[in-house]
Amino acid sequence: MVLVSLDGFRSDYLDRGLTPTLARLAAEGVRAGALVPVFPTKTFPNHYTIVTGLYPGRHGIVGNEFTAPELGSRFALHDRAAVRDPRFWGGEPIWVTAERQGLRTAPFFWPGSEAPIGGLRPTWWAPYAHELPDTARVRQVLDWLALPPDRRPAFVTLYFSLVDHAGHEFGPTAAETDSAIARADALLARLLQGQTRLAGDGAINLVIVSDHGMAATDPGRVVWLDDHVRRDWLEADALSPVLTAWPAPGKEDSVVRGLGTAAHLRVYRRSELPARYHLKESPRIAPVIAVADEGWSIAWRARPGEQARERPGGEHGYDNRLASMGALFVAHGPAFRRGVVVPPFQNVHLYPLLADLLGVDPAPSDGSADSLRAILALPAGSPH
Ligand code: AMP
Ligand code: ZN
Ligand code: ZN
Repeated sequence: MVLVSLDGFRSDYLDRGLTPTLARLAAEGVRAGALVPVFPTKTFPNHYTIVTGLYPGRHGIVGNEFTAPELGSRFALHDRAAVRDPRFWGGEPIWVTAERQGLRTAPFFWPGSEAPIGGLRPTWWAPYAHELPDTARVRQVLDWLALPPDRRPAFVTLYFSLVDHAGHEFGPTAAETDSAIARADALLARLLQGQTRLAGDGAINLVIVSDHGMAATDPGRVVWLDDHVRRDWLEADALSPVLTAWPAPGKEDSVVRGLGTAAHLRVYRRSELPARYHLKESPRIAPVIAVADEGWSIAWRARPGEQARERPGGEHGYDNRLASMGALFVAHGPAFRRGVVVPPFQNVHLYPLLADLLGVDPAPSDGSADSLRAILALPAGSPH
């Protein structure tokens, strides 16, 4: 089976008439109204929830950047040593579940795949290389699928960031984003052509997802922190659109009160976070969290020499209940029913689904295979 992630592909991008390949796969397979992401609606927490079935509070990747006080250390997606350090990565990703039960896997560029989680590395993986052309990524996946059956991986992933990138740079409704959506679809067409040559049409179970959606931002909608708190009152792991603040000693009340005076900002102490965020369990949650309203950004006023953003763009990270944060789910192949559209469902349910498709016993998770029984051609648990 192949799991593809189109980073930042909002669920409604599918309805723009720009994606003939995805439209065909959905028509001959399964589509969800949306894949509901976890909070914060950022890349690392969501990719790791998809492959573990755990909420970020339980798997530990609570943001793209966070402090881990229990390790005396910080995590950031751009920090090569951190992404390879298994101490940050809790739970059991599907490739570890599968390898432990005798399957070969190739989670290619999937967050977590560079770390020996539970002491185990996948058979194939690669250091994340942003500059590796998308067509080369497709070729690599086809090379794995072309291996003889006794060496071929049972589980392969493929990752593209072009749609997320355009969404940030130009906004979700821009022509440039439409063009990235169309290019992403063409990459899927390439994958399918190659795969059909190898194995025949429809021989592979293909699950195509995204991690979160995208909301339009613009320079007129900014919460300026300096108007409400002093810079030396707090350290921030992440700034926008979710501020994760570690107040200086004795300053927590000042920070909460100060941020509380800002419009378009929801401010929580760790203990007051909404239950639907499932975050309270982890020591990695900052003492104060402020979440911007949809489309708003959080920033410090530029200091001399810094450049403020002057164009509209896009952002994600917001409340996971927002429709604009809704992600993509399309599945196609022998295991799936044909022509089925299901209502939105949460991405925690994907891990037990993947385990079922691979025929392995899942580790305990926050998802349930039952939630997705309706999309399978065969009852859950029977061999595919
Ligand atoms: P976000 O803005 O949260 O959607 O983050 C997207 C960015 O995450 C992409 O543009 C990539 O540069 C980066 N990224 C995605 N996957 C990985 C990975 N496996 N390792 C490091 N960085 C990654
Ligand atoms: Zn992302
Ligand atoms: Zn992004």
